[in-house]
Amino acid sequence: MTSKYSTPSYVRGILREKGYSIKKKLGQNFLVDQNYVDKIVSAAQLSPADWVLEIGPGLGVLTAAMAEQAGKVVALEIDRELVDVLQETIVLPNVTVVPGDALAGNWQEILRGLGWSGEPVKLVANLPYYITTPLIMKALESELPFQAIVVMVQREVAERMVAPAGGKDYGVLTLAVEYYCQAELVTNVPRTVFVPAPEVDSAVVKLTPKPPAVAVPHGKLFAAIRAAFQQRRKTIRNALKPLAKEWGLSLAQLDEALTEAGIKGEVRGEVLTLQDFARITESLMQRCTHGVR
Ligand code: SAM
Repeated sequence: MTSKYSTPSYVRGILREKGYSIKKKLGQNFLVDQNYVDKIVSAAQLSPADWVLEIGPGLGVLTAAMAEQAGKVVALEIDRELVDVLQETIVLPNVTVVPGDALAGNWQEILRGLGWSGEPVKLVANLPYYITTPLIMKALESELPFQAIVVMVQREVAERMVAPAGGKDYGVLTLAVEYYCQAELVTNVPRTVFVPAPEVDSAVVKLTPKPPAVAVPHGKLFAAIRAAFQQRRKTIRNALKPLAKEWGLSLAQLDEALTEAGIKGEVRGEVLTLQDFARITESLMQRCTHGVR
């Protein structure tokens, strides 16, 4: 059933009534289509036991829908003016709007301060575009044991998150997602279902966290992955030279490590899988004399 929060007339009316000007720099594009609200909420598979952390509730369209199914919704909103609007318009016993920057705050402390004590927790958000990647990385690396992360992002970022190896979209974000999660594209979303309409289309992605896909230490693995993608056109051998040097390894040791990992030095990083990078990292680490572990 269409809720009042998901209609363009509600959004335009409330903005007019409060004399509110949309802040583009905060990525404010409000979702005004119940079909997509339903798709996001149903992807999160909420139950009364769940706590939801929502980033950027805006005018509350997802917040209100999720509050019907979840035990508790904690919504972090940076814009004080919107926090004031929400506090008048979404008065529900299981919703708390917390003012502040979601990138800066300690999510675990915020939830604990509101009574969270280990219940299943899910992150659901129509993300502001300008913080998409750091926010997703924060969620992936969070201490909170998210059972699911359901986010609306620019279509291009969604494509990077679920890209196969070898293509132009494949990179550090793809591998970070694969390291921590099972990723699936829930739906594409046209730009026409927002007020105001953004300049790009969007997509909803669901990430289901799982134990790390490979056993190599995360910091070392991603140092190698970042080095490989910093200059995508370089061969893996050339791309890894500075890192090998930083780890105290000679060029001969880098070559040995690549051979041991079964990787030809002249391939580019973009054709290598997470497992390939794990083997390369492992072989490099074994050659380090001064304990990079
Ligand atoms: N959830 C609403 C919806 O779907 O219509 C609004 C989504 S809008 C794309 C992004 C929201 O995130 C805005 O309300 C914006 O003010 C808020 N926001 C932007 N930067 C933020 C940050 N660093 N921390 C928390 N909220 C932020």
